[in-house]
Amino acid sequence: MTTASHPPASQSATQARSETRSEAPPSPSPVLETRNLTKAFGGLVAVDDVSFSLQAGELLALIGPNGAGKSTCFNMLMGQLAPTRGAVWLKGENITGMNPRKVWRKGVGRTFQITATYASMTVGENVQMALMSHHHRILSIRPRAHRLYRDEALALLEMVGMADQAERHCAVLAYGDLKRLELAIALAHDPAVLLMDEPTAGMAPRERIRLMQLTAEIVENRGVSVLFTEHDMDVVFAHSHRIMVLNRGQLIAEGNAEAIRNDPRVQEVYLGGGTVFAQEDAADA
Ligand code: ADP
Ligand code: MG
Repeated sequence: MTTASHPPASQSATQARSETRSEAPPSPSPVLETRNLTKAFGGLVAVDDVSFSLQAGELLALIGPNGAGKSTCFNMLMGQLAPTRGAVWLKGENITGMNPRKVWRKGVGRTFQITATYASMTVGENVQMALMSHHHRILSIRPRAHRLYRDEALALLEMVGMADQAERHCAVLAYGDLKRLELAIALAHDPAVLLMDEPTAGMAPRERIRLMQLTAEIVENRGVSVLFTEHDMDVVFAHSHRIMVLNRGQLIAEGNAEAIRNDPRVQEVYLGGGTVFAQEDAADA
């Protein structure tokens, strides 16, 4: 029914048997990998035969016009949607079709397009709750929760620049602060991979840059691998190690900022959509 059972190419038994590998460069082992990932909604192929890998410590951007299939792709990676065809591998394990909770437990964290926090709790308590959940502590000990994992929560808040707001209630936070809190909550689960679908949606340009700078630092300091989608090309070009371009469900280009900027097919897609790449320096102003 699916091709989900064949392993990543780097582990292909037939290849390994038929070649002498000593001359080949060591193949990096990806943290996350998709093989021929496909999702059809009726006659519409939203994601079409997409194969890519995310390396350890990599900040990888997935861009493309509205409706290109980015969110559908993310939903398959996190177990929200079952692929029509193809497979998802996490650290060498086939996780295709696993439910979201299981995928999350295996180390695929995520932030949401809609921010999900407990409005009635403080910033610090929200992170503590996430840490308790991560350590399988039950929530019935809530009266003692103000001490449990307090230091760890503060350390995570420090990392996202929110330590000074630990006592504030989430209901009163500015949107950009909520997004940074959400990042701290995702990190509380110590993910190997963090999926961020439009993390900066609704943020002012300066805040967007700040959130992605923060994400880049976290990638650097914690070795977490991040796959993110983002509309703002300045943010993408400034903050990703590598960029993949999706158009009508298909990957049409992949490379560093320079390569993507100069790719004729990418220019066609974006110029057609009214986006111009030439202003990459504007974000630094
Ligand atoms: P993007 O995130 O790149 O904007 P999406 O993955 O949300 O794109 O959507 C890709 C295409 O799939 C769009 O044409 C969208 O209308 C369609 N689509 C997404 N989810 C569904 C669904 N649950 N049922 C039917 N069509 C869908
Ligand atoms: Mg989307």
